[in-house]
Amino acid sequence: MVEQLQRYGVISSKKVVEVMETIDRALFVPDGTPAYVDSPMAIGYNATISAPHMHATCLQLLEENLQPGMHALDVGSGTGYLTACFATMVGPQGRAIGVEHIPELVASSIKNIEKSAAASLLKGGSLSVHAGDGREGWPEHAPYDAIHVGAAAPEIPQPLIDQLKPGGRMVIPVGKIFQDLQVVDKNLDGSVSIRSETAVRYVPLTSRDAQLKGY
Ligand code: SAH
Repeated sequence: MVEQLQRYGVISSKKVVEVMETIDRALFVPDGTPAYVDSPMAIGYNATISAPHMHATCLQLLEENLQPGMHALDVGSGTGYLTACFATMVGPQGRAIGVEHIPELVASSIKNIEKSAAASLLKGGSLSVHAGDGREGWPEHAPYDAIHVGAAAPEIPQPLIDQLKPGGRMVIPVGKIFQDLQVVDKNLDGSVSIRSETAVRYVPLTSRDAQLKGY
């Protein structure tokens, strides 16, 4: 699968190839779900694990901000796949935090990570996943070099901008039906530059009640 993403030109970074080969997606999808097909898959609670090409795209956009020792926040961490990738890239001296508002997904993501190559980072404490409303970020380990948001926000939540380090980068899908993957760079003077990378389709970043309606 990773080879195919390289062949199609989705992945050009060696580090992203390495991390996606290290963290096995099969450990993160529900039993019976095909792991290596390039599409999002349902994980329950009206949530999905993002498609491999989206994981690759986000890792690549954040690569410079996921160097050893850096701090990364994964909002809407779902299965924990990207949180595990971030933790692997920032290493034991860094910090990778997942925030997810469905407690059952927090619990299953921790189980997934325990089976993966990132297990020792979880045990060592440089990787953790928390239940909470990710629109508030996770102030405890702010500021972050990298923030990833795995669900589409109607607008960029201010706490996430506040928790971005100068020189830091956030990747966030923004919009309702039509969504853009936005790349938010906080400049060293504290100002913010925003550009759109590509059109995307994510589940909404919302309240738990709104997400579980009809589930
Ligand atoms: N990157 C994850 C994506 C999961 S889908 C993966 O590939 O596994 C998006 C996730 O965002 C869902 O698990 C959903 O429950 C969560 N989510 C939506 N709104 C949220 C909020 N306000 N706070 C925290 N998590 C939220």
